[in-house]
Amino acid sequence: MNARAASGKDMAQQEIYPIVDGPVSAGIWSRIVDGVYWARIPLPFRLDHVNVWLLEDGEGWAIVDCGIDSAEVRAIWAQLLASLPGERPITRIIVTHGHTDHIGCAGHLVSTLGVPFHAPLIEWLSARLRHAASLTTLPDATASFLLRHGCDETMLQAFDDERLRVSQYLGAPPAELRRISNGDRLQVGGRSWAVIVAGGHADEHVSLYCEADGLLLAGDQILPRISPVVAVFAHEPDASPLGKYLISLDQFLSIPEGVLVLPGHGLPFRGLHARIAALRQHHVDRLDQLETVLAEPKTAFEAGSILFSRAFEGGHRRLALGETLAHLHVLVQQGRASVRTDQQGRQIFYRTGG
Ligand SMILES: [Zn+2]
Repeated sequence: MNARAASGKDMAQQEIYPIVDGPVSAGIWSRIVDGVYWARIPLPFRLDHVNVWLLEDGEGWAIVDCGIDSAEVRAIWAQLLASLPGERPITRIIVTHGHTDHIGCAGHLVSTLGVPFHAPLIEWLSARLRHAASLTTLPDATASFLLRHGCDETMLQAFDDERLRVSQYLGAPPAELRRISNGDRLQVGGRSWAVIVAGGHADEHVSLYCEADGLLLAGDQILPRISPVVAVFAHEPDASPLGKYLISLDQFLSIPEGVLVLPGHGLPFRGLHARIAALRQHHVDRLDQLETVLAEPKTAFEAGSILFSRAFEGGHRRLALGETLAHLHVLVQQGRASVRTDQQGRQIFYRTGG
């Protein structure tokens, strides 16, 4: 690449990712705009970090998202809490959704700081249920779900080990909730945030939009570079999270293209509509690939091993199988695929389109 092309690319990158001096290491707050700070919490997964935010809240700061619960992350929080801008106290904790990388450390922070906890009801409840289930062995319904989608008996434990590995990082969620609902306005200090509840990645994922300052705290609903996990799991085997996710993207189109998006993972970015179009296209492409793969009838496990081979090899089979099913369910809804049950009780998906 010649120098001119390289600098042109750098300029384009800078327009998309305007915050050049972001957090270089865990335990440091970086200013985004007045009254909004950003820090990163490391994750022991393939996705190696989650973003957390500080919003000026009158006399203190509200925290948005918390990271996982572990000795390392508690130590990072101790460091972050000791270096709050202006040495003002934490007023409350808000989480965008109930996944472990966002709510994991919330219980620890709420009990340490004695502050209120805000989240959507279903996200809080589902985290509490997952926490309660984290000590149980593989439920029968999960085993039957996995077997019917093409896993063999020997794989069941490996699949469940993936669930247990993540659940060790989910601390007991706070016992008390201040509920956030779709359409609410959340007043945090001098800023008023519109609450956008959307499905697909989680059942009641919350994004916060401040029109006055052109800021969108997107959580995981819209991420730069990667597409959020949209997956079917055993507890709701017929769900269509991808259908919900694609609908949810429309909710964001009324927000101006120029907003600064503060995502749950990755760098703050501009270009909301372009990113929504890319995420939509990503799923359209996946659906097309999957339809092609189904020219030979397959279980979800077989189809997923082809479509998500890297995830299947890399210890993320539970998510990859769930993502495959999310796409399969949309293909079935669109009349492009159908499903039958074979003699072993396995669900076989096959292409029906032209
Ligand atoms: Zn996340």
